[in-house]
Amino acid sequence: MKKNLMSFFCCVLSVIFLYTFKVCAASDIQRFGGEDRYETSIKISQGNWQDSDYIILVSGKNFPDALSATPLSKKYNAPILLTGSEEIGTNVMEEIKRLSPKYAFIIGGTGAISENVERQLTQKDIVCTRIAGEDRYETSAKVAQKIGTSNGAFITSGENFPDAVSVAAIAAAKEMPILLTKRDKLPDEVKKVMEANSKYYVIGGEGSVSPNAVNEIGDYKRIGGSDRYETNAAVINEFKNDLDFSNTYLANGYGFADALSGSAAAAKTKAPIALVSDSFNIKNSIIKYNIDNISTICVLGGTGVISDILVHRIINGGVIKVCIDPGHGGYDSGAVGPNGVLEKNVNLAIALKTGKILKANGIEIVYTRTNDNVPWPANVLQDLQMRCDIANNANVDYFVCIHANSAGTSANGSETYYSSGSVKGQKLAESIQKEIINATGLFNRGVKTENFYVLNHTDAPAVLVETAFISNPNEEKLLNSDSFQNTMAQAIARGVINFVSTQ
Ligand SMILES: [Zn+2]
Repeated sequence: MKKNLMSFFCCVLSVIFLYTFKVCAASDIQRFGGEDRYETSIKISQGNWQDSDYIILVSGKNFPDALSATPLSKKYNAPILLTGSEEIGTNVMEEIKRLSPKYAFIIGGTGAISENVERQLTQKDIVCTRIAGEDRYETSAKVAQKIGTSNGAFITSGENFPDAVSVAAIAAAKEMPILLTKRDKLPDEVKKVMEANSKYYVIGGEGSVSPNAVNEIGDYKRIGGSDRYETNAAVINEFKNDLDFSNTYLANGYGFADALSGSAAAAKTKAPIALVSDSFNIKNSIIKYNIDNISTICVLGGTGVISDILVHRIINGGVIKVCIDPGHGGYDSGAVGPNGVLEKNVNLAIALKTGKILKANGIEIVYTRTNDNVPWPANVLQDLQMRCDIANNANVDYFVCIHANSAGTSANGSETYYSSGSVKGQKLAESIQKEIINATGLFNRGVKTENFYVLNHTDAPAVLVETAFISNPNEEKLLNSDSFQNTMAQAIARGVINFVSTQ
């Protein structure tokens, strides 16, 4: 009762936010993402090179010339930066200054990267070498000459990028060039640089590189699947023993640019690049089978390219995980109703029922507590932080905190909170709130933002549901009844499921 007078919200404990500390997840996630592909290439460079004698400039607008650049980047330990065709943008130029290179390779003809770009570099006393052929195929052959083909080479389609991206970091690690071919004919310029008796790998299915195109090559091995993701997985599996999975990269299977600049960084540590997208089959992800060896997932591109949710689902092997946090517990009763109902017990009952429904719908549940023996000490901050740690360590996709409200005997209704600025948090809150009002007919207090500790210290989008007012005798009675708890749990679960199914 005293608590009711002390604060409008029973969740006053949650409002305390003193300092932030993050714990390591099972797999750490490091994102190299900018506003666009140019910014992303800068972020990748900043994250992996303190300085560099060499840089490689490729067109940010067109992939073909750039595809063969990664093995070159490994040979010269050079970051790959993207440029516009007419000029090097201000931010990319700032990054070049930071790296203070002596030499630059420009990959592609003046149609892809103009002479003006070259001038911008020579003005900074950077010696430029342009590697360019008549077309993408000849360009790949010229890059190959810089690397040499005595270790063999990878042959991929020059008409599409994913297979080349799949093999880029591996090719670099093995100091083998990437040669581009047409679907039905290996171009003469490419044939010229291929040495007899070397080991050749053809990357991609017969739809990408036909048997006709490569039948002149005596000894080759084809690594391919039915689509870009299967080929990607097949390539990674084939060279598993040459790769170090501790940093594993994710790149979008439908965009070349982030993957290309990322492949230079991946090649430094012999890291695989897994192609992903919302449409690929997460359950067969290469990540799933190697998760024990992965300490950091490096995401190439911003959240618009690879969403946080997708990353979490990939780490979790496709499962959606929701953390259910029954507010208060143990030493902390939460609010106490006029007839003595304890908030902590009501919260727990609704939380367990909600979790049970979600589980039945294929969602994995992580509870912060499942009874009144709480795992945290009787200390508010440690209590709240541990709830966040449980969710963060489990890499959950969403966090749902369940409370009952307290203000006075006449206050009534339901409300759901999210952290200001969290778009997904807001959508989840709206989805849950709508279902609660539909199911219970309680007064709709709407969705709101608040600096509750658990909303601000969980990695996943988070919501805090104030189911009803325990300080109101009518709602206290409802909260304490099994049927109302069931209705409330069904509504919360439906809100979660409706939201998740749109993601
Ligand atoms: Zn509470």
